[in-house]
Amino acid sequence: MRIGRWMRLAGTVLVLTLAAAACGGDDEGGDGGQVNEGASFAEGTTMARLQQEGAVTIGTKFDQPLFGLKNLEGKPEGFDVEIGKLIAGELGIAEDKITWVESVSANREPFIQQDKVDFVVATYTINDKRKEVVDFAGPYYEAGQDIMVAKGNPEGIGGPDDLAGKKVCSVTGSTPAENIRTNYPDADLTEFDVYSKCAEALKNGQVQAVTTDNVILLGLISQDEESFELVGEPFTKEPYGIGVKKGDTEFRNFINDTLQKAYDDGRWLAAWDATAGKVAPEKPTPPTIDRY
Ligand code: GLU
Repeated sequence: MRIGRWMRLAGTVLVLTLAAAACGGDDEGGDGGQVNEGASFAEGTTMARLQQEGAVTIGTKFDQPLFGLKNLEGKPEGFDVEIGKLIAGELGIAEDKITWVESVSANREPFIQQDKVDFVVATYTINDKRKEVVDFAGPYYEAGQDIMVAKGNPEGIGGPDDLAGKKVCSVTGSTPAENIRTNYPDADLTEFDVYSKCAEALKNGQVQAVTTDNVILLGLISQDEESFELVGEPFTKEPYGIGVKKGDTEFRNFINDTLQKAYDDGRWLAAWDATAGKVAPEKPTPPTIDRY
């Protein structure tokens, strides 16, 4: 009798555990995988082509925790990835029909121009220089450039002016690297192709600081809190957009509509909560979409 009750209780616990694992297991995101089966698009548009093909290729980062990080199964996870899934879903394309292509900072414009990807979601700041060669939907988030140093801040760095004479790491083709080069020329800038290499260089003592968007740095810190910390306040505005082929206004409008829909029905916030929101101190509000 007593054993029987025990077994039932153990069984219930097991069922609950399995149910919890099933909910949280497969997908890091909110409802990113929701597929709009009934979507219909005007002939000749990128949306109609992708829907017909039933597949899409999306450029994202593979080494940025919280936004785009390749997991052990080789699939990227994070807020950018969830935004990518949302857009695919509205095209009627399921998650398993997405091909993810690593797009490091310097590759984003060429990958869009050369049709290596259908669009890019990769902590990609919207700015006028980039708009000369690609177009942007969004913004879907606003970050800001910040500085990461070794835990304890041994160099006493409090902001970008303190980088003079210091070795600081950022990534080729990124706005933070460009900002240091242009506005803080006394800093000794080292550039790699990805931010994980900057984090390694900081850990090894090869550089004294890493600079890029606050949320990217937060992701790196979340993986190694013993080694790194964030200093100062964000000193730029980095509105994140979705990069598309220049001139594809219909596709850009469609992505803007999709973002607005996800803002309104809560999927955007669910995607945030399931990814970057686990670490970021503040809950963001969706930025106003810039339909330029
Ligand atoms: N948001 C900045 C950029 O687009 C920095 C992050 C990155 O390199 O991806 O350049």
